[in-house]
Amino acid sequence: MKLCGGTAAGAALLGMLGPESFAEAAPIDIPLRKRIGEKTSICCYCGVGCGVIVASDENGKATSIEGDPDHPINQGALCSKGASLIQVTNNERRLDKVLYRAPYSSDWEEVSWDWAIDKIARNIKKTRDENWTYEDERGRIVNHTEAIGWDGSAVVNNEEAYLFTKFARALGITYLEHCARLCHSSTVAALGSSFGRGAMTNHWIDIKNSNCIMIIGSNAAENHPLAFKWVTEAMEQDAELISVDPRFTRTSSKADTYARMRSGTDVAFIGGMIKYVIEDIEGHPENYNMTYIKEYTNATLLVDPGFKGPADLDGLFSGYDPAKRAYDRSTWVYQLDEKGIPKRDTSLKDPNCVFQLLKKQYSRYDVDTVCSVTGTAKDVYRKVCETYAATGKPDKSATIIYAMGTTQHTNAAQMIRSYSMLQLLLGNIGVAGGGINAARGQSNVQGSTDHCVLYHILPGYLKTPHPEDVDLEAYLKHYTPTSNDPLSANWWGNYDKYIVSLLKAWYGDAASASNDFAYEYLPKVEGDHSHIAAAEAMNDGIIKGFMSPGHNTAVSGPNANLEREWLGNLDWLMVSDLWESETAAFWKRPGVDPAQIKTEVFLLPAQASMEKEGSITNSGRWSQWRYKCCDGPDMARSDLWMVTELIKKVKELYDTEGGEYPDPILNLAWDYGDPPDVHKVAKEINGYDLEAGELLPSFTKLKSDGTTSSGNWLYCASYTEDGNMAARRDPTQTPEQANIGLYPNWSWCWPVNRRIIYNRASVDLDGNPFNPDKPVINWHPLRGKWEGDVPDGGWPPMSQEGTKLPFIMTSEGRGHIFAPGTLLKDGPIPEHYEPWESPVGNLLSNTQSDPAVTIWKSLVKGDASKYPIVATTYRVSEHWLAGQMTRNLPWLVELMPEMFVEVSEELAEEKGIENGKKVIVESARGKIEAVAVVTKRFTPFSINGKRVHQIGMPWHWGYMGLSKGDSANVLTPNIGDANTTIPEYKAFLCDIMAK
Ligand code: SF4
Repeated sequence: MKLCGGTAAGAALLGMLGPESFAEAAPIDIPLRKRIGEKTSICCYCGVGCGVIVASDENGKATSIEGDPDHPINQGALCSKGASLIQVTNNERRLDKVLYRAPYSSDWEEVSWDWAIDKIARNIKKTRDENWTYEDERGRIVNHTEAIGWDGSAVVNNEEAYLFTKFARALGITYLEHCARLCHSSTVAALGSSFGRGAMTNHWIDIKNSNCIMIIGSNAAENHPLAFKWVTEAMEQDAELISVDPRFTRTSSKADTYARMRSGTDVAFIGGMIKYVIEDIEGHPENYNMTYIKEYTNATLLVDPGFKGPADLDGLFSGYDPAKRAYDRSTWVYQLDEKGIPKRDTSLKDPNCVFQLLKKQYSRYDVDTVCSVTGTAKDVYRKVCETYAATGKPDKSATIIYAMGTTQHTNAAQMIRSYSMLQLLLGNIGVAGGGINAARGQSNVQGSTDHCVLYHILPGYLKTPHPEDVDLEAYLKHYTPTSNDPLSANWWGNYDKYIVSLLKAWYGDAASASNDFAYEYLPKVEGDHSHIAAAEAMNDGIIKGFMSPGHNTAVSGPNANLEREWLGNLDWLMVSDLWESETAAFWKRPGVDPAQIKTEVFLLPAQASMEKEGSITNSGRWSQWRYKCCDGPDMARSDLWMVTELIKKVKELYDTEGGEYPDPILNLAWDYGDPPDVHKVAKEINGYDLEAGELLPSFTKLKSDGTTSSGNWLYCASYTEDGNMAARRDPTQTPEQANIGLYPNWSWCWPVNRRIIYNRASVDLDGNPFNPDKPVINWHPLRGKWEGDVPDGGWPPMSQEGTKLPFIMTSEGRGHIFAPGTLLKDGPIPEHYEPWESPVGNLLSNTQSDPAVTIWKSLVKGDASKYPIVATTYRVSEHWLAGQMTRNLPWLVELMPEMFVEVSEELAEEKGIENGKKVIVESARGKIEAVAVVTKRFTPFSINGKRVHQIGMPWHWGYMGLSKGDSANVLTPNIGDANTTIPEYKAFLCDIMAK
């Protein structure tokens, strides 16, 4: 910024001097009147992870926030949200008081931090003690409380998310969630069951290496603008862009091909593409990477002859029990040889091999049927198939970018699975310009997911113990996969090292071999405790106290009117935020009488991202360090500080007063200093050699004997004796790394700084890159080692002795075209089902909607005769998710001032709706008002000859903030995906009328 000032002033002077003086003109150093400090941070909005420079004055106030020109992802550019960041910290609407709302009160009162911490800690203890369960009704030890819930968050730093998990588990909380449940939980289930890891495979810069980019279920140009920059870069190198969306979006406007697709029909769309690819593979194998298909995927593996699929069973798979709405998955397994190794048919001809099962299921997905389901024009669809399939050549690559247009459906995990399978058939995983790029909406939703602020997993994606896992041995037996195949690395075979090191990090000396490393302290969880289940538990009076740091459930939860109402069943609620959010103020929402609401509410003022220090992890798995750059409001505190003060007080109460099962609390290691030092937490996450007292360099050093600790094995290597890896800002690269934009010395990437995961699938059996122009790794025979990216497993090429297959996290070492065993609840191969609410019948079978989804008791289903219009929700560039971090910023509110709904010209004419006038949108759950935007971006679909209208609306608004409006989630159903319960926000039925 100093440079900018000098340049501008210099330019003005040069204008006066005339051109002849240019050669002599030297830069002029103009002294600044104020001392300006400059530090780097990372944007707090979306998962692209753009770098920013924050300048502050001598009073600690931010004076400007600009894009970091050195940052390799955004290279100085910012979108409208990033460019408005300074209004997050310099904003008179920011919370600067600790607020308390007494039961039945109509006002906040100002209280001190000490008072609030003491009162919340006492509430926690009282609720926990009165509702503690040692054993369940079957006599199994569970050591948990279901009476305290936790929801949040993905806006905190990694170190804070990690402490949230640790804190909640020590208290025995089972209803533990954060917003990943609502935005990308289906991603983790789908990518994990396909490849072994549930995260984006490549990284943002790598998109420039693609020959073809398919953006489906995402409007990246609007919602991840600086990621889209790399799409543009690829297009400048002649890459094709395909946009698949029900609405003609800003992304569509940049695309070579725009394919219109009705919301919720992704599996039909991709299933037809898979049919095209399979037939083309059979006709023209020379156009495909047959080595990849046969050696690196499970296409050749034989499946149990008892397995039957939707082509045999009218949309179902073998083992379905309609009474339980669940499958017996015992036939979804491989045939094994006498050594216990899966049998293969490398000719791909056996009717039970995965390839033939795939062919059989998708033979029903012909172009006519697919286009009748999706509403896509047939000529456009054929072009998409041809264009995308052309990347099956070994030296070509294509990538799929998706976001919440895909993830938020009742069969969302299967939709993402279908993308994964297409990519495996085309040899597009592990290569430069390939992969599946899950565009994350929150700045640290990847990190908060990695640290598992989620009920079903512990940091590093270790499973939460079940009551049947009676001790550590039983737990390890349950979750440690085995493989008899010498070619399988079976990396999860290291489970014991990771869980023991986690327990050592949490319980220190109190965790020893003699007490099962304090395994008993971990709460045991059975059944669904996800977001929708937690909301129902509030309604049922099971959850009595709720903590919600940085999460705005009153706007983001499905069937929002119900969730808001159920918050009133709580005894107490704690919210920390930068603003008075809708969740904190649920008791004064329009139409309710606070005097009728008993809930005691605490609203704690939090520090914003640039006001505290720590790391966050972007979509591409880059953990990036943010410095404290400026001061926030006087009373604001970091979440690190808040959770530390709370556990200190809770420990003190249990120490002095006793209580139910105090051991996990009293023995919890929490020694980060006063105030807590974030570096100490980051080091704990990385882990130590406890004997040497040194930070570990890698998770390969972790042991199961209690001599190592690591709060999250995936982050072991992030903070070593060489320093804080996430803070690195070194742009240097070897020529090979620079060729594909790896930036291995900039920040740190999990796992072990590997930038493109599964990268050993990018080379042939001798270690030569399939695409010699864009190698990710390369075997150097003389040096006997890999060069380029960190190899995904350091074994030599497949043609050499002692090697392992490239998908090291799956138990058979291959990418899963067929997801075997118990990986997914609703099928090993994706099948098209209609959304839960749909105006049409399923054209592919008589199984209308996903047969394995949970039907919640509060669920209300809309009927197409009353609600004939398909609705979807989405985001706009200027607003962030539930809106509290943008609807309070004047610049952004000016750009995008109010709630609207987009309506096609045809529907507007039918309904007498005028552009710019108010309309009412109604579903079976509720009704909202919005401004009508009559547009050509939507047009009616023809679905099997029936005219179907679709409308769309952003979901950012609520009843608080500078800009207020009705919330779209008042309309959405509280039903979720079969595997993850992520809600169906993207396809539901409604009606619309002029107001
Ligand atoms: Fe970059 Fe996303 Fe921030 Fe925009 S919102 S500046 S794309 S990180």
